[in-house]
Amino acid sequence: MKKIIGFIGAGNMGQAMVGGIVKSKLLQPQQVMMADRSEERLKVVSKEYGIKVNTDNKEVAKNADVLILSVKPNIYAPVIEEIKDIVKEDVIIITIAAGKDISGTEKGFGRKLKVVRAMPNTPALVGEGMTSISPNEKLSNEEIDEVVKILKSFGKVEIVNEKLMNAVTSVSGSSPAYVFMFIEAMADGAVLDGIPRDQAYRMAAQAVLGSAKMVLDTGMHPGALKDMVCSPSGTTIEAVTTLEKTGFRAAVISAMKSCTNKSIEMS
Ligand code: NAP
Repeated sequence: MKKIIGFIGAGNMGQAMVGGIVKSKLLQPQQVMMADRSEERLKVVSKEYGIKVNTDNKEVAKNADVLILSVKPNIYAPVIEEIKDIVKEDVIIITIAAGKDISGTEKGFGRKLKVVRAMPNTPALVGEGMTSISPNEKLSNEEIDEVVKILKSFGKVEIVNEKLMNAVTSVSGSSPAYVFMFIEAMADGAVLDGIPRDQAYRMAAQAVLGSAKMVLDTGMHPGALKDMVCSPSGTTIEAVTTLEKTGFRAAVISAMKSCTNKSIEMS
């Protein structure tokens, strides 16, 4: 790919995405530019990934063919105001902020540029991200394919209708936090039963990784996979009974609803 990809914001998500892109070798490091207000942070990024960095957002914005806005949602308006008149006319703008819709981004830039609303997640850093995207009608199919190719360099990609983006925030944007809590809780349970903590984290995390891989690789219903683990009168069904009694499913579903609602509120 011959494009220049620019990032504004070198925080958790920006770095996770850059890490994935550089490691995948889809682009040369010199084709990736990143801006942030912190010179110190940029020094670390430049050392780690060999990409071009700049404390001037405009420098990145004017050179990028694909520009990813990886700042917090409340920083979108001032950043867009700062760069709206200097981006290339055929730039593809990728937004990744919770609650920032396509029409708001178009309004911010004062015209209908090519805009892709995306929701990635931090496992991008280890090449196992999950990014969902909604492109506006200005992108051709070839351009959408290109965007998918970039985002696939750090994980899986789904194309969804924009109205589902708030729900996507809950199921894959924020969900690594719930999964980390689940792993932490399982490790606590293991420690309670005498397993050393570092071993407990490895065991719990591998069990989550393996279970997720079974869902993806077999295509079987998660309930059927759960049934396969539950022997009659066995140990697992005891745990499942306790999880049901203590409202595990309801807790997850209502946590996700709060996340989706918050994303709607931020729109
Ligand atoms: P973050 O770690 O705070 O990164 C944002 C970076 O932008 C920080 O380095 C920040 O510097 C810098 N910044 C602030 N104002 C700036 C400006 N005017 N110009 C240039 N850089 C500026 O945030 P994050 O967690 O990566 O989140 C970034 C975006 O990704 C958010 O919109 C979020 O909704 C979205 N997202 C995050 C996740 C996630 O798991 N974290 C998942 C999906 C989507 P300072 O630290 O000095 O403010």
